[in-house]
Amino acid sequence: MSATRGLMTIDVVGAGPAYTDRVGAAGACYLVRMDGTSIVLDLGQGAFPRLASMIEPSTIDAVFVSHLHPDHFVDLVSLRHYLRWQFRPSRRVRVVGPAGLEGRLDALHDEPGFAAAALDVATLAEGSWTFGPLTVTAAKVTHTADSYAFRVASDRRAGLVYSGDCGRADDLARLIRTGDTLLSEVSFGPGPVPADVAHLDGPAIGALADGTGVGAVLLTHLQMGFDERATIESVRGRYGGPVNLVGPGDRYAI
Ligand SMILES: [Zn+2]
Ligand SMILES: [Zn+2]
Repeated sequence: MSATRGLMTIDVVGAGPAYTDRVGAAGACYLVRMDGTSIVLDLGQGAFPRLASMIEPSTIDAVFVSHLHPDHFVDLVSLRHYLRWQFRPSRRVRVVGPAGLEGRLDALHDEPGFAAAALDVATLAEGSWTFGPLTVTAAKVTHTADSYAFRVASDRRAGLVYSGDCGRADDLARLIRTGDTLLSEVSFGPGPVPADVAHLDGPAIGALADGTGVGAVLLTHLQMGFDERATIESVRGRYGGPVNLVGPGDRYAI
């Protein structure tokens, strides 16, 4: 694409959830770009083809994986095959994910070294990574024992905070700066979230957005069977800013 300098864009490659009857849906995957730097947040089932239609995958600076549920990482297998076999010599992409990710990928193929043949997998922990103008900051959230949310931003600018899968809205508050765009999972739509389930609903996101002063809310990862309009309204009931439910192919600028 012909990007405007200094503009951060977010392409929704896949918006989840783990399963759906919606044709064209894909697992979680978001492409964040600024001035030639490209960061991918999660790479869930079926997301690779659309990602490859948007960017030459070997040029991605890093793929960040929020947690080790397959709807957030399983298309790393496709990325690995692409890098390994589409080029002579093979190309490589950096992947930052929770401890154990490389072993999960190797186990899928029953092949030690499978991931390492084309992916440079680093272990994710709380902290920051900088690529060109973009800094990615990771913070732990309540979901699996080793789940993370991310903030992607450039200096002195509003950024994007992506929840990953998250069972406690307040976990996201320490990542959010006033004016940021909040891209949040809303697995249980207008709610409520069943007890002992670590996901979010619209009222919790609305309260978080209002309390932290975000500039906009983007909703994603809505489970099959929940009403889209009621989901959006359940956020608007507590937050006065713009609220959208995102889908594959959507692009937003920050
Ligand atoms: Zn999950
Ligand atoms: Zn998920």
